Amino acid sequence: MLSIDEARAAVLAEARPLPIEEVEIGAALGRVLAADVTAAGDVPGFANSAMDGFAVRSGPADRTLTIVGESRAGAPAAVKLADGEAIRISTGAMLPEGADAVLQVELVSEDSDTVTLGDEVAPGRNVRHPGEDLRAGTTVLEAGAILGAAELGVAVNAGHSTISVGRRPRVAVLATGDELVDPGATLGPGQIHDSNAVMLSALVTTAGGRAHAVRVADERAMTERAVADALDGADLVVLSGGVSVGPHDHVKPALAANGVEEVFWRVALRPGKPTWFGVRRSDGTLVFGLPGNPVSAYVTFMLFARPALLRLQGANDDARERTVRLAVDVERHPDRDECVRVRIEADGSATPTGPQASHILSSLLGADGLAVIPRGEGVLAAGTEVVVHPAR
Ligand code: AMP
Ligand code: MG
Repeated sequence: MLSIDEARAAVLAEARPLPIEEVEIGAALGRVLAADVTAAGDVPGFANSAMDGFAVRSGPADRTLTIVGESRAGAPAAVKLADGEAIRISTGAMLPEGADAVLQVELVSEDSDTVTLGDEVAPGRNVRHPGEDLRAGTTVLEAGAILGAAELGVAVNAGHSTISVGRRPRVAVLATGDELVDPGATLGPGQIHDSNAVMLSALVTTAGGRAHAVRVADERAMTERAVADALDGADLVVLSGGVSVGPHDHVKPALAANGVEEVFWRVALRPGKPTWFGVRRSDGTLVFGLPGNPVSAYVTFMLFARPALLRLQGANDDARERTVRLAVDVERHPDRDECVRVRIEADGSATPTGPQASHILSSLLGADGLAVIPRGEGVLAAGTEVVVHPAR
């Protein structure tokens, strides 16, 4: 059986970035940058004031100067500044020619057309210089970055209105199981609500994909048709359930019948041992058969499908793993690495959130990470450093 890292490497080896596209910058949140972004000009583009006050020439305190004009944000002063003069200025307004400093309004006393400076003024005081934020021609964002609010703001400052990003992967989510009914439906004997379809679709969206979810019963021919439909037009398919060895598990033969080649089945992982991964060679579509237990589906999505989705969009390696100390002793599994839902405490240590069985979905509430407890005997002692994968 493959380890978590081996399985993830096998997945990433099959994931090729999708074509890139140019999108409006206002619609690029969460997208993956496909080309470096450079600054078209200096930012700030001109010397301007950091304060509301008076633009002056640097010099000693207690000078009384004649007010000869005003520089407002977006409306520079019409006059130059000469010795003995001051120009009223607003935050962000262009520093008038002849001035080299600004004294804030709180440190002056004003008369009708003069102003007396209560403080010595050093050259450059309260002046924002061109290029202090971004220098023209320099790279400000690198290809592979995920665009958050700060990245979008910086790209606008760098002079851009559109941005080149990886195409969003089209993802089909297919939940299998005779026991499944719609959210909110009245439950008959032995039935459960299909939580995986909604949950996995949400995970797809969070990872930048566009999800479309459907459900199929545990029947061979129907599963085969549902898999064919799911593969149609999808870049990646996520199935839930039906990948174990029971008589009603039809996913593996249905995938084989649709030309999807197995890359691996089973990972030395708890929860998530029956995880299946394969590729349709004709078009490179990636297919994940995730176990049906909701926690197993969630964990294996985060470990394997999410990195694949990011790679399809051209993202740099999902470097959100970190190393964290365990706050308490944690029981080890003898032959599988275990992903434990943990809360990261204020002191940076990790505490399990609650019962860890694979049907206890509520233990994911409040989980900040999935801590990998390496297989072995006994317990892993409090204080031991473990790798923590993102839980969200
Ligand atoms: P399976 O992997 O199909 O053997 O299912 C394992 C467990 O997960 C069973 O208890 C199923 O009822 C449950 N399960 C399977 N699919 C879903 C789903 N879509 N939503 C919630 N639970 C599920
Ligand atoms: Mg099932």
